[in-house]
Amino acid sequence: MLRLNGVARAHIKGRERIRVLQGLDLEVQRGEMVSIMGPSGSGKSTLLDVIAGVIPSNEGVVELAGHRMDGKSESLRTQIRAAHIGFVFQFYCLIPALTAEENVMLPLHLWKLSRKERALRADAALEVVGMTHRRRHLPGELSGGEQQRISIARAIAGNPDVLLCDEPTGDLNKETGLEVMAIIEQLSHHYRKAVVVVTHDPNVAALADRHLRLQNGVLVDDRPNLR
Ligand code: ADP
Ligand code: MG
Repeated sequence: MLRLNGVARAHIKGRERIRVLQGLDLEVQRGEMVSIMGPSGSGKSTLLDVIAGVIPSNEGVVELAGHRMDGKSESLRTQIRAAHIGFVFQFYCLIPALTAEENVMLPLHLWKLSRKERALRADAALEVVGMTHRRRHLPGELSGGEQQRISIARAIAGNPDVLLCDEPTGDLNKETGLEVMAIIEQLSHHYRKAVVVVTHDPNVAALADRHLRLQNGVLVDDRPNLR
């Protein structure tokens, strides 16, 4: 479902070129959940942005659901991303002035759907994350765990094949974090999405089927040390 081969990506900071990803390989199958750990600054967020086509790779193959992302224009990458990827962020990134349901409907505006069809899809996604009863609430009226559930609903409303999660429990207490992870696990194992979870928490990483560590610009096998 997701394949990276020999991916390189650098960032330019002033006159300095920071080599972040350096010949990185990754494959994630449908229904598989992979965790990625690594110190701050090792390039985890850069990797997710390259997978999603938010930024282009400098070298290598990025293939999503049979579509090559590398070498594509920004607008083509955006189209492929809209059709195949859902993104979950540490700080939810919900629009404060919109209700939960309107937030979930937002990415569906990229599709040619009627308002009714958008609402139906949003409601189905809200049901998957158990937030139907909160759909008329504003983000500010919801707890962190509830906001993260809404953001997961937004990520899956377009029925993506791949779910990318950047420290999805980083702002939550342990118990709430595990509840959110139970939903993400279900999206992988029951709804058959290819899931990549970036995390600092070994207890979160341990829930994945496969554990990787980002080190010196490449991914290596890892075994999370449980506390
Ligand atoms: P992580 O998510 O693992 O903490 P990042 O992918 O955010 O790491 O960053 C990896 C490296 O790239 C860091 O050294 C960071 O400072 C640098 N970096 C990230 N984004 C940019 C950017 N837009 N411009 C310049 N440097 C960046
Ligand atoms: Mg990061």
